[in-house]
Amino acid sequence: MTTQGKLYVVGFGPGDFKHITTRAVEALQDSDFIIGYKTYVELIQDLITNETSVISTGMTEEVSRAQEAVRQAEAGKKVAVISSGDAGVYGMAGLVYEVLIEKGWTEANGVPVEIIPGISAINSCGSLLGAPIMHDSCTISLSDHLTPWDLIAKRVEAAAIADFVIALYNPRSGRRTRQIVEAQRILLQYRSPETPVGLVKSAYRDRQHIIITNLEEMLDHDIGMLTTVIIGNSATFLYDNKMITPRGYQRKYTLNSEKQALKPHQRLREEAEPWAMDQMTGVQRVQSSVNEKIEKDEKHQIVENIRPQSPKVSSYNMAMEALKRVTGKQPKTTNYVYQDFEEIFELAVSPGVANKKFTPEQMLTLAMVVGEKGTMEYTPNHQIVLKIPTSNPDAITAKLNGVGFLLSPIGDVLTLKACDFCDGEKTGGIPYAEEIQEKLGGLQLPKELTIGFNGCGMACYKAVTEDIGIIYRKGKFDLFLGAKPVGRTAHAGQPVAEGIEPDKIVDVITKIIQEYKQNAHPNERLFKYFKRVKQIQGYVYKDIAPKINIEPAPCGD
Ligand code: SAH
Repeated sequence: MTTQGKLYVVGFGPGDFKHITTRAVEALQDSDFIIGYKTYVELIQDLITNETSVISTGMTEEVSRAQEAVRQAEAGKKVAVISSGDAGVYGMAGLVYEVLIEKGWTEANGVPVEIIPGISAINSCGSLLGAPIMHDSCTISLSDHLTPWDLIAKRVEAAAIADFVIALYNPRSGRRTRQIVEAQRILLQYRSPETPVGLVKSAYRDRQHIIITNLEEMLDHDIGMLTTVIIGNSATFLYDNKMITPRGYQRKYTLNSEKQALKPHQRLREEAEPWAMDQMTGVQRVQSSVNEKIEKDEKHQIVENIRPQSPKVSSYNMAMEALKRVTGKQPKTTNYVYQDFEEIFELAVSPGVANKKFTPEQMLTLAMVVGEKGTMEYTPNHQIVLKIPTSNPDAITAKLNGVGFLLSPIGDVLTLKACDFCDGEKTGGIPYAEEIQEKLGGLQLPKELTIGFNGCGMACYKAVTEDIGIIYRKGKFDLFLGAKPVGRTAHAGQPVAEGIEPDKIVDVITKIIQEYKQNAHPNERLFKYFKRVKQIQGYVYKDIAPKINIEPAPCGD
C-alpha cells in the first residue's frame, strides 16, 4: 500500500470566500480530487483549479463519499472531502475516521489525514444576529435520521433546563416538519415565550435571510433546511434589532441604569455572586468535606457517617441546584416557565443630605425590603448600601421613597457627604447642599467622587479631605480641590478659592464636575486629573502632596 496520498477533511465555512480559511483554500488547491455534496462543490467551484477532479454526490451518499475518499487517498492521491461550516460539526470528519478505522488505519501506518477547521453555522449565524452565543451554549441537530427522536427531545429538554443558548441545526426539511414544533413545545415549558430567537437562512450566501423573533412566534416564519435557529438563554435581550446575551448573570439593575461590572475585589463574595461554587452549601461542600475527612485517615467511619445525608450527585441535580440559586425558587421539572429572573439590586440610602437621623418607620421599611436574602452595609459615606435579590426593583424604590429616604446609585458616581449642620442649627448652607445633591448627586463619573460639604469653619466632618471640599463660612464658600482621600499618602485638598458668593457656588461646582466627567480618563480620580491637567476651571494645581515614598497598596492588603 502506498501512503503518498493525503486526506484533507475541509470545513469551508458558511459559503462565501471571505469566510473560508487560508489553509482550507490551500488544501483545495493542493488536491487531485475534491469530494462532496454537489451543492457544496458548486459553492467552492471557483476555488478549484482545472486539473482537479470533482466527485459530487447526493446528500444521503455520505458513506460512499467517505469510502471513495479513503480509496483514492490510499491509491496515492491527494483528496479533499468537503463539508460546509466545520467538518467536525454534523460533517464528514467523523465518518472519514470511521471508514479508516474499519480498515485498521493508524496515524503511523495509514494515509496522512488533516482535518481543517471551518466556521460553523452557530458562529456565522450568531455573528449576523449580534452576539447571541456569548455564554454557555450548545448545538442540537433536530434531524432524526441517524439519532432517535427520544434522545433528541431529551437533549432539548436538558439544554432548556440548564439555560444554555441553543443553536438548532437541521431544524426542518420537506418531510421532517414536526420536530421543530415539538422542540418549541419543550422549550416553552422552561423558557419565557418572549425569549429572543434568531432565524438565519443561508448565512453569508446569496439568499441570506435574517429574522429576529421570539420563542412563542418563531414558527410563524419560514424555517427550512438551510436555516439555523438560535434560542437565547434567560438573560438574552434585544437591542436595536440585535440579539445579545450578556457575559454573566449578575447585576441587571442599578439606579442609574448603567451597567456596573463587579470590581475584582467584589467577585466571589457570597452576596455578589451567591451562585459561585465556593458559596454553595449543597453538593460541592458535602463532596469536599468528604475528601478532607478521608485525608484525615478516618476513612471508613466518616464516609459511613456522611453517606446517608449526601445528596445524589448527578448533573441533573446540579443543574437544578444552580437554577434554584439564580431564580431563588424551587424549579419544577415540568410546566416551569423561566421568567422571573432575580438579580441583585444595589443602591444606597440615607435619611437626607443634612439629616442624619433615621426614623423607626424607616428602619422597619429597610428591614422589610431587604428581607432575609438581602444585605445592609453601613459605609463611610453616611449611607447604608443595600443589596437585594429581586425581579422588581421599582417596588423597592417606591417603598423606600415612601418613607422619605434619599436614594443614590452606587459605584463610580458622585456622592454628596454633608455634615449635620450642628444638628440643624447652622442652616445657612443647607439649601446649597441640597441643590448640589439635586443637580449632581448620583451622576456617573470616570471614578467615584465625594463632595464634602461642611456648614461652618470648624469643618468637623472633614470636608477638606474629600475629592472636593466646600465650607460655608460667614455667608460665603471656601473651596478645596486636589485632596487624596484614601491611601497611606492621603492628604487634604489645597484651598483654591475663598469667599465664593452663594449664588455662584452651585455653578462653580457644576462646571468642575462637567469638566472632570468629560476629560478625565476612566478610573482617574479627581486629584490625579487635577495633577495631570494642572488647572481646573481656572484653579491652578499646587503640589502639596507629602514627599514620602510609599508603595501604593492594593485594596484589601
Ligand atoms: N457542518 C455544518 C453543519 C451541517 S448540518 C456546520 O458546521 O455549520 C446542516 C445544517 O447546518 C443546516 O440545516 C443549517 O441548520 C446549518 N447551516 C449550515 N450552513 C448554514 C448557513 N450558511 N446558514 C444557516 N445555516 C446553516
